Amino acid sequence: MSAPSRSLLFAALIVALPAFAHDHDKDHAHDDGHREHGAHVHGVAWLDVALDGARLEIAFKGTGADLAGLEGRPADAADVAKVDKARRTLADAAALFAFEPAGACVPDGAPVVEPPASALEAPAAAGHDHDHKHDHDHDHDHKHDHAHGDWSASYAFACATPPVAVNLPLFDRYPDLTEVRAQILTGSGQTAAEATPASRRIPLAITP
Ligand SMILES: [Zn+2]
Repeated sequence: MSAPSRSLLFAALIVALPAFAHDHDKDHAHDDGHREHGAHVHGVAWLDVALDGARLEIAFKGTGADLAGLEGRPADAADVAKVDKARRTLADAAALFAFEPAGACVPDGAPVVEPPASALEAPAAAGHDHDHKHDHDHDHDHKHDHAHGDWSASYAFACATPPVAVNLPLFDRYPDLTEVRAQILTGSGQTAAEATPASRRIPLAITP
C-alpha cells in the first residue's frame, strides 16, 4: 500500500518543482562543493570497483551529455545513432578499462548497459510533438531524469592475478569527461580515488 502512495507523492513533487530542475542546470557550471557519489554533474563520471578474491566488479555511471553526447529524448535518427553508439562503447569493457598487470582480469559474462529511459524513447514524429511526461513511477530520487539522463553499466571480471590497479583508457572515448571519481572496495577495506585524462590510474591495493 505504501509504495503506490509514495510514487504519487513523488510525481506530485516533480510537477510542483519545475523551477528546481531548471536551477540544477545552471548549477552544473560551478558545482565545486561536495558531491554526492553518483550525482549528475557534467564532466564527472563515477566508478565503483569491488574486488572479492578472484572476482572483480565495476559499476560505471555518467551523464548522457558525456557518455552519449545526448540527454533527453532523441530528436531524430542522428540522435538514435548516438544512443546506439553509446551502448556499443559502454559494452566494450576492454576499451574502457585496463588492468595492472596487463591481462590480470578477463571479462566474465557480458556487461549490462543501462541507458536512461529518455534515451530509449522514439523520436517525436513531425506534427505529433505532444508535451509528453515521463513515467516517474519507477523513480526514487532521479529528479532530473526528464532533462538530464544518466547512463550506467556494470561489468564482471575474473582475475587470475590480483590486479594492483585499473587504468582508464575510457578517457579516450569520452573527450568531455574531465574526472572519474572512484570508490574501491577490497578485502582490505574501502577507499576513494580520482582519475583525470592526465592521470588515469586507479590503485586497487589498499594499505590498511
Ligand atoms: Zn545533464
